[in-house]
Amino acid sequence: NYESKALKRNNHDKMLDGRQWIASLNRIISRSGLPVTLQGGEPLIHPDFVEIVNGVRSDIEIDILTNLYDKGFITKFLDIAPDRIRRDAPYSSIRVSYHPEQMNLDELIKNVLILKDRGYSIGVWSVFHPSQKEKIEKAKKKFLKAGIDFRLKEFLGEYEGKMYGHYRYKGACDKKFRKDVLCKTTELIIGPDGSVYRCTSDLYEGRDPIGSILNPSFQIEDQFRPCDWYGHCNPCDIKLKTDRFQQLGHSSVEIKGEEVENLSLEEVEEVKKTIAEFNRPI
Ligand code: SF4
Repeated sequence: NYESKALKRNNHDKMLDGRQWIASLNRIISRSGLPVTLQGGEPLIHPDFVEIVNGVRSDIEIDILTNLYDKGFITKFLDIAPDRIRRDAPYSSIRVSYHPEQMNLDELIKNVLILKDRGYSIGVWSVFHPSQKEKIEKAKKKFLKAGIDFRLKEFLGEYEGKMYGHYRYKGACDKKFRKDVLCKTTELIIGPDGSVYRCTSDLYEGRDPIGSILNPSFQIEDQFRPCDWYGHCNPCDIKLKTDRFQQLGHSSVEIKGEEVENLSLEEVEEVKKTIAEFNRPI
């Protein structure tokens, strides 16, 4: 029951070629609702992107996170059948991230519509950064007017001394302590060179991987692993999210330890209210 994420760490990593990615990803036994998510960085810059998507077993669902900033990306998508990147989910399988400070809004709308009109399951997401609220609210209206599915993502992290986001474990991302815990992930996190990591923090911080998808004897083990980096976790792993039954209170990792402080049920209820307000129509 693992969601698989193929992520990019930095430009210096050795990248698996298309043949290696296809062989590796085809080892995954998955089920409906547990997609392989190709994300980055930018997955479309991989020279074998089209071959990878077309070469992965058809029963493995694929989601793609992209910036869609290069015209050539549209051509790449057009070499993949729209139904290959579509699944039964309450959101689009191709999720374009909109960055108001770096992207031309009208150009992006045009490019998204090219793919949408050809039948691709595509939508736009934007991180609701506190410094960009006005621009993003205006953009949201434009996307919706153009008939494009547009969603907001909570900003996770620190801005002007304030920590944003809703997290399952108190202080886990604040970098104010470092403690020993046991941690178990629900995601199979794969770096660009095929290394497999306990969590996003390990990948981004360059800590040792727990294995490699290229190793034929590598097996996913549903187990708690010791970690002495608790307190320096990545917000992506700790943020509160819903499970497949839409119940809020979960996160990508589960952490156990004497000093691990969970949100109380009352606090989770408070977060539910805040998130509902955050997602209100504008
Ligand atoms: S405790 Fe935090 S840093 Fe350690 S493995 Fe879990 S998520 Fe990663």
